Amino acid sequence: MDFNFRNLCAWFLAKALINFGFVKKAKMRALNGDYILSIYSHNPTKREFEACIKWLIKQKFNFLTINDLERIVNNEMQFPKSSVLLTVDDGWQPNEQNIVEIAAKYEVPVTIFVSTQAVEEGAYWWSYVNKSIKNNSKNRVATLKQLPNVERLAIVEKLKKYANIPREAMTVEQIKRISRSSVVTIGGHTHSHPILVNCEDAELYHEISFSKKKLEKWINKEVSYFAYPNGDYGQREVRALKEQGYRLAFSNVPTYLTKSQLTHKYEIPRIGLLEGASLAENICRMVGVWHPTVRSLKKIFKSSKDSIREPVYPTASNVHVKMS
Ligand SMILES: [Zn+2]
Repeated sequence: MDFNFRNLCAWFLAKALINFGFVKKAKMRALNGDYILSIYSHNPTKREFEACIKWLIKQKFNFLTINDLERIVNNEMQFPKSSVLLTVDDGWQPNEQNIVEIAAKYEVPVTIFVSTQAVEEGAYWWSYVNKSIKNNSKNRVATLKQLPNVERLAIVEKLKKYANIPREAMTVEQIKRISRSSVVTIGGHTHSHPILVNCEDAELYHEISFSKKKLEKWINKEVSYFAYPNGDYGQREVRALKEQGYRLAFSNVPTYLTKSQLTHKYEIPRIGLLEGASLAENICRMVGVWHPTVRSLKKIFKSSKDSIREPVYPTASNVHVKMS
């Protein structure tokens, strides 16, 4: 589907959710303390990020630091009303201007989870794949995400020799600089951004501990929070993070952060903003009505598609006659 056509359809749906009161209802529940809005993004433009922040401020949401969230998890702080937690994944170079500057302007805390290899080398592994394989590159990245990690790494290392990609991740200097901002917390996001569940045990521990030590050396602060690359994890990953001294970890499960979910402090859900989408869609995302609506529509669409499939006529092979 053409992305603009997708965005246009999504805009109509978002407007319907706003006009029929679904957004208002969800917003009131968050304002009354039924849940915290846990929101993440990757590489939004300044205009997109600022529009979201201004909307949240206008609705009178308070912005939690990640340290506040840890205190809430540990019952040292009451579960708050009207609260938002903002996180950002990967460490994209435009984040300094588009996120950190805006966060400082509005005094809004934000946690940025950084993959250290991209910071050292300049680019993320999927960019080498996209650059090298023009046709169906999306499918190719998706295929690589399914492979055992050693196989993915071997392919990516070969592709790196042929692709020259301009820097897209922040530099070490930028990481050091933004870490000194009073609104920024730096978190871990592994070294090479692998799919952790496809890693051998030794690779998993290396990815988690090597990147943590590197980040701590760069910023001269402890790194205690983590986001799973691609949102993929299992109980082995949770155990490894605990052993390496991480204290909170974040998934990409797009749901509200309720009191009961806080008992799983290595599986904190987050709702993703979509870069390039309308503000109306991102408002629906932020208050948590977007994903359940899209899921329901997909289900309805699928069941109506199934019901208009060709009828199955009896043939010798699909008729089972009970022999007596
Ligand atoms: Zn990531």
